[in-house]
Amino acid sequence: MKRRKSVRAYGLPSRWRIGTVLLLLILACLLPGILGVAVLFAREYLNGRAQLERDMIATARAMVQSVDTQLFKARITGQVLSTSAALSRNDLEGFHRRAREVIAKTRVGMNFVLTNESGQQLVNTLREFGEPLPRHGNPEIPRRVFATGLPVISEIYIGGVLRKPVISVDVPVMDNDRVRYVLSVGVSLDDFNAILAAQHFPPGWVSAIFDNTGTIAARTHAPEAFVGQKGTVEYIQRISESLEGSMQTVTREGIPTLSVWSRSSVTGWSVGIGIPREILEKDLIRTMTWLAAGLAILLVVGLALAWLAGRRIAGSVRALTEPAIALGKGLSVPVPEVSIQESAEVAVALRQAGELLAARTTSLVAANQELEQLARVDALTGLQNRNSANERLRQEFLRLKRSGHLYVVLFMDIDYFKAINDTYGHDTGDQVLRHVATVLKDTLRESDFVARYGGEEFLAVLPETNAEGALRLAETVRQTVSRHAFPVAERVTVSIGVAMATDQDKNEEVAVRRADTALYQAKADGRNAVRGC
Ligand code: GH3
Ligand code: MG
Ligand code: MG
Repeated sequence: MKRRKSVRAYGLPSRWRIGTVLLLLILACLLPGILGVAVLFAREYLNGRAQLERDMIATARAMVQSVDTQLFKARITGQVLSTSAALSRNDLEGFHRRAREVIAKTRVGMNFVLTNESGQQLVNTLREFGEPLPRHGNPEIPRRVFATGLPVISEIYIGGVLRKPVISVDVPVMDNDRVRYVLSVGVSLDDFNAILAAQHFPPGWVSAIFDNTGTIAARTHAPEAFVGQKGTVEYIQRISESLEGSMQTVTREGIPTLSVWSRSSVTGWSVGIGIPREILEKDLIRTMTWLAAGLAILLVVGLALAWLAGRRIAGSVRALTEPAIALGKGLSVPVPEVSIQESAEVAVALRQAGELLAARTTSLVAANQELEQLARVDALTGLQNRNSANERLRQEFLRLKRSGHLYVVLFMDIDYFKAINDTYGHDTGDQVLRHVATVLKDTLRESDFVARYGGEEFLAVLPETNAEGALRLAETVRQTVSRHAFPVAERVTVSIGVAMATDQDKNEEVAVRRADTALYQAKADGRNAVRGC
């Protein structure tokens, strides 16, 4: 695996990764949803809470009505009984009997008590007539009835006979506009307990019925401890302020609750219902935990998918690196296995680019070779040119130095060429040059090298040739040229200098210079001659 070159190496700042972008995208998509769910949930919770409070208040209101009904029934029964004929006759024994009949028939009230103005009980249906009776359990009440002539619903007090918390509804027994007795209808607190029990509140909910002084008349929890006692100061305070409402409070036993109350505007009795905050919050916490867990799972799954997708895309993009580098190196471009369509398309495009490049490279190489060839060839004669000759001389010299392979340099010059030009024109001169070149090519061996070295100068390199062989070959050339039938010019001769390269030579030019000197000698000796070696 080749190391990827960091983009910083190219002076680019480091960029965001695909994975990071996708993760941010997922967050951007999910966060508003999560926020929305949280807001909806909060609204739902608050609405639910408000609805619960409304329902609880309605329940408390219905319960207060039941309490009132219970008290009114007792009052009416008392009022009816207070007009009994036995009382008009002052027949207390007859009244006792009648009262017991009413209790048996109506089942309203627990007992009836007849009290005189001094607070002494005269009749009590709980006792047989004539048995000694105590004073009224709460003498203040008959006193109020005697004073006002109006019915009174008592607060809770300890009954004179029963010796337990009771309430009574006390009505006046009138005798010609004068209150003669007070008739108390004893109401059992069990009747109020029945109202509470009928609600079937969930366990944990605390509900109580309070009399008009805020004293607890019935209670779902620990009635034995609290019935007969005052409600909390806060409760009494709040119910005095409004008929209905809700509040966060603490029960008598110290349980923090959300409580609602409803108070009767007629009797002043009230009902309180409290849901322990722990129960409310338990539901809230459970729902929130589920919600948070659900959202967390959603987030984790979303992020995991984004990570997988990011890896897949990044892998597909990075897989293009190798083909790109191969493209740059001119190697065959592989098509990598990628899972993303667009990457596959780019990979195929890279492959095509590679093929196009390869085709272009091939034609460029061919063109280059052709150019190289052209650069070494003399356009007029088709022989190698001076550059090529110098290169060959250098190679042969190095070979001589390395392996001792001898070679000979022939330096040829056409005689009186200027005169040919002058006499027959430049074109004829050119033609002569081409003919001489052909003669040279035909006369020299396959392994020999011949080039047009200058205007009408030719140079040949004869490898693996001794002086004798070289002189012979030069002589053959000279004769062939001199016998050649040139068009127009007819007869042309050449002079040739021959020199053998030695390993004492400083460089390849030394032999060329010697051949040139020999050529000079041939010219001096009258031309159409071979000199040297
Ligand atoms: P020498 O026997 O002493 O060599 O006499 P020469 O007339 O050949 O003398 P020289 O070497 O000074 O003359 C070379 C002439 O070759 C001069 C130049 O005009 C002519 N020449 C050089 N290149 C070309 C060519 O490509 N075409 C033609 N037609 N003439 C050329
Ligand atoms: Mg010359
Ligand atoms: Mg010449």
